[in-house]
Amino acid sequence: MSNKIELVKTAYIKGDYPPVLNSEIAFAGRSNVGKSSLLNKIFGIKIAKTSSNPGKTRSINFYSVNNKGYLVDLPGYGFASVSKEEKKKWAQLLEDYFTNRFSLQMVFLLIDHRHEPQKKDIEMIQWLRQLEIPFIIVLTKLDKLKKSERNKKLKIIQTELSKYGEYLYFPVSSKTGEGIGLLKSEIYKYLK
Ligand code: GDP
Repeated sequence: MSNKIELVKTAYIKGDYPPVLNSEIAFAGRSNVGKSSLLNKIFGIKIAKTSSNPGKTRSINFYSVNNKGYLVDLPGYGFASVSKEEKKKWAQLLEDYFTNRFSLQMVFLLIDHRHEPQKKDIEMIQWLRQLEIPFIIVLTKLDKLKKSERNKKLKIIQTELSKYGEYLYFPVSSKTGEGIGLLKSEIYKYLK
């Protein structure tokens, strides 16, 4: 059976969220980490690219899944070209969402599998921890790593992030589909 996915709301200002459903999960990550590709692969969502729609850089998009739960696309972080003012608005919007949206059950935090977690990723992890929001790490662009490098990279990332806590890790490739099935099962545990 195919899933019914609908864009219900695009929130540009804090508090402008749709009425809660049974469940809610959110996707976060640096810009360019592969979030749009992943959401497209898993849910068939086509997200307008930020370059063609600058306003989208700081909106929160709520998609309903089978009218039961939301998957929430959070604005990507780490844009080099974004003004201080824009970054502040981004942080305020996100902080409001994280602190006030009690229906949020899990954040899927995307990190590029090729690199060690960057300062902005660590800041996001610390932020989520502080707010006691549970999260799962999704390691993107797995296909860009040689098979022989994969375990080594995974260990490096796990060791680095173990300073902050114990997490689940899902290495995936939106290009080849590797790891997508496992991640999808995990995601749908929440969208009931
Ligand atoms: P977003 O900014 O996080 O939404 O990132 P996008 O999904 O737009 O991806 C950024 C770039 O990485 C694009 O050029 C994608 O084609 C590429 N990309 C995304 N996922 C993968 C992947 O799994 N494998 C490879 N090789 N490239 C990917």
